[in-house]
Amino acid sequence: MPEIIVLMGPQGAGKGTQAHLLAERFNLPLVATGDILREMALSDAPLGLQIRAVQAAGQLVSDDILAEVVKTRLSRSDCEAGCILDGFPRTLPQAKLLESIAGDLGHRITVMSIELPREFLFKRLAGRQTCGVCGAIYNEYFKPGKKEGVCDVDGQALFTRSDDNEESIAQRLSLYDEKTRPLLDYYASLGRLQRVDGTGAPDEVFGRIVKILGKQTASDAS
Ligand code: AMP
Repeated sequence: MPEIIVLMGPQGAGKGTQAHLLAERFNLPLVATGDILREMALSDAPLGLQIRAVQAAGQLVSDDILAEVVKTRLSRSDCEAGCILDGFPRTLPQAKLLESIAGDLGHRITVMSIELPREFLFKRLAGRQTCGVCGAIYNEYFKPGKKEGVCDVDGQALFTRSDDNEESIAQRLSLYDEKTRPLLDYYASLGRLQRVDGTGAPDEVFGRIVKILGKQTASDAS
């Protein structure tokens, strides 16, 4: 059955990195709502300006805008075999919308919650650097590029996201606790939740995720 794998966890838990690895391993498209919205925010049209301001302040973009973005993206043909979702859903209305989209498409939802102690999160976020071209993620403290400020993969410049400043990070972490963390109970009640230990190197965490998904596939087959 086609599967939508949702990565959940507070900002800095390593969702983006794991999402890239999963998309590559399972040959599924990566749908990262933060990236789609950042792209939309480049436009100087009113919608672009609105999204830019909301993102820079570390607030959530409205559920209505997200509904439009996600419906459009998941109905594209490359999502027929499933996809990896990063950054969505973040609120209960978004989770309910995803249930309905997945139901229409006949896709199963599996939620991977990446769990990490709070003290790790700040440092991970404050040091984060992203390649503007391929999206590879580095960290000044934990995973610097071979050459400072340059992507190892394609040699392009790395940038620090405008919302990775101290004030915005604190705002985003508290929004996560308030709006998104409760979704874990929602997904647990639907039997869709898998919890994974997010400590250690990215490939260790990835190994844990693949093992959980493998067990799930094996129990489907039996
Ligand atoms: P991310 O790259 O996932 O950390 O998202 C960056 C920013 O994009 C967030 O802080 C929000 O402003 C916005 N955003 C991304 N996904 C969502 C979502 N599902 N709901 C609301 N806002 C979102």
